[in-house]
Amino acid sequence: MKFNVLTLFPEMFEPMKQSILKRAQENNLIEINLINIRDFSKNKHKKVDDYPYGGGAGMLIRPDVVYDAYNSIENKDNAKVIYLSPQGKVLTQNKVKELSKQENLILLCGHYEGIDERVLEEIVDEEISIGDYVLTGGEIPAMALIDAVSRYIDGVINTESVNEESFSNGLLEYPQYTRPEVFLNKKVPDVLLSGHHENIENWRKEQSIKNTKKKRPELLKNNENI
Ligand code: SAM
Repeated sequence: MKFNVLTLFPEMFEPMKQSILKRAQENNLIEINLINIRDFSKNKHKKVDDYPYGGGAGMLIRPDVVYDAYNSIENKDNAKVIYLSPQGKVLTQNKVKELSKQENLILLCGHYEGIDERVLEEIVDEEISIGDYVLTGGEIPAMALIDAVSRYIDGVINTESVNEESFSNGLLEYPQYTRPEVFLNKKVPDVLLSGHHENIENWRKEQSIKNTKKKRPELLKNNENI
């Protein structure tokens, strides 16, 4: 899967070169193509932003530089263009799963006060937010989206992990334990040491519902898995 990222700050994507995503790129399971919007500025000082018409705080990214940066991307006919924006629908695990079926995504990161509306109307298919709060730029949201979507690409991580994790069935995951068997006088639940797979599965389901009820009760409404 290819992620094309339109950004003013490609250096911010260094964390994508670590750990699981590093291996996924080395194994050609995902590709992250960073396009620096500033390279498309025709201004001699490489300026990309300007004051908003009508006044107001901050600066806006010009539509022409974003459009030229977008047009520089090759083979984008079937690509979906996502603008990371606090005004978009909040990203969910279902959306992440849906996006993982795309071959090619173009992620547009705003900065400063955002981007001139006209280029958004022209190129963007969907706006996605990572939560109801405002960040300084779309880079961290784009990284969150790339990370979450990559986990659904075959071979990036163990499929069982993806299917058993929080939100995969609309519930939070059950509590997990590893060695040592006793830590600070707290013992690992007996059932997990029993080797009885059916009992373990039932216990985990019960705990998953309990955990969800305690931490995110709103997820239980209309949940078909309970
Ligand atoms: N003026 C904009 C508004 O009120 O909707 C906010 C601009 S924000 C300071 C700058 C950029 O950060 C946005 O263009 C967007 O790309 C990104 N951004 C900020 N918060 C975000 C969020 N919650 N989810 C996704 N992107 C976000």
